Amino acid sequence: MGLQEYFAQLSRGVDLVAECSGLSAPDLEKMGASAQDAAELIGLHAIYFGPTPYTGKQRLALDAARRNGHALSTLQHIESFTRRVQGRLATWNLRVELCSSSPERITAVARRRLREMRVPREYCERALLRQHPNGLATLTVTGNGLDMADAFRTIDHKRPGTSFIARMLGKADETTTRTRVTTMAVLQLEDYGKLVRRERDDVLVRTTSGTVITGAQLVERACANEGLVTIISRTLGPVDLYRFDRFASVKQRTMLAAEHPTCAWPGCSIPAERGQFHHLTPWKHGGETNVANLVTLCNYHNGVNDDDPNAPPRRGRLARKCGTIVWQPPHAH
Ligand SMILES: [Zn+2]
Repeated sequence: MGLQEYFAQLSRGVDLVAECSGLSAPDLEKMGASAQDAAELIGLHAIYFGPTPYTGKQRLALDAARRNGHALSTLQHIESFTRRVQGRLATWNLRVELCSSSPERITAVARRRLREMRVPREYCERALLRQHPNGLATLTVTGNGLDMADAFRTIDHKRPGTSFIARMLGKADETTTRTRVTTMAVLQLEDYGKLVRRERDDVLVRTTSGTVITGAQLVERACANEGLVTIISRTLGPVDLYRFDRFASVKQRTMLAAEHPTCAWPGCSIPAERGQFHHLTPWKHGGETNVANLVTLCNYHNGVNDDDPNAPPRRGRLARKCGTIVWQPPHAH
């Protein structure tokens, strides 16, 4: 068989399929077909000549394929698209349309139709991990849109994986500083009662109704579900911090950060967690390490604060007045 004859045979794909009537795949293999070709031909025969409730559509597809001279490979190409459609009627509609298209248009027409048929996905919160053979992996997380946009903004797009993990897991990374996000609720003591006294590791509060309760009980009544709650007095400053279980080591730091999320020096915006504890009344002058005598300052302002009230004033100093941190200019007195 010459090439010319071969090409002529190719252009009559549906006629070749028709010739499979009454034959099985093993019959075709005995005639010399490969197992794959035999299976494909039997499959196409079932589609174009087998029983179907959509005989009208079958007839239209057959005529169109014959008219356009679709080769066997084109018929297979068409099926690669119709396989992705759900429902027999929709499958037949796409098959008829593709059989009616010229071979070079089939892919474009199919893609457009498949796109139109796609059901809009219902998104919900989820997390997916895919490991890749080169040691990388892809983490896909679906969550609140605003939160996700915030998280996305923290990613350094020059090193997305490294910077993301540095933030997520707090792994040491020279350019990304670890951020700890804690939601803090603040109770103004005066809105609930009066501080009676400190007792061991808690405070006693006389409520507006006259009952004396502990700070823990007050917090429990006011907002037990907040996670971290600190009581700040308008006249005394931070009073106490409550959590479901207490971490004494971070307690003072957390309270101070609640009072001053950034360096307490006027106009400074360095985050508290990158700062240092500063004693308002210096340790050597009898200042205690308790929350009322502490404030968070960045390294720079901790350095320029006039710690010693008796030394010649230079940049002024911070002090607590009526519970609030104020800056006292160098020549205040
Ligand atoms: Zn500062």
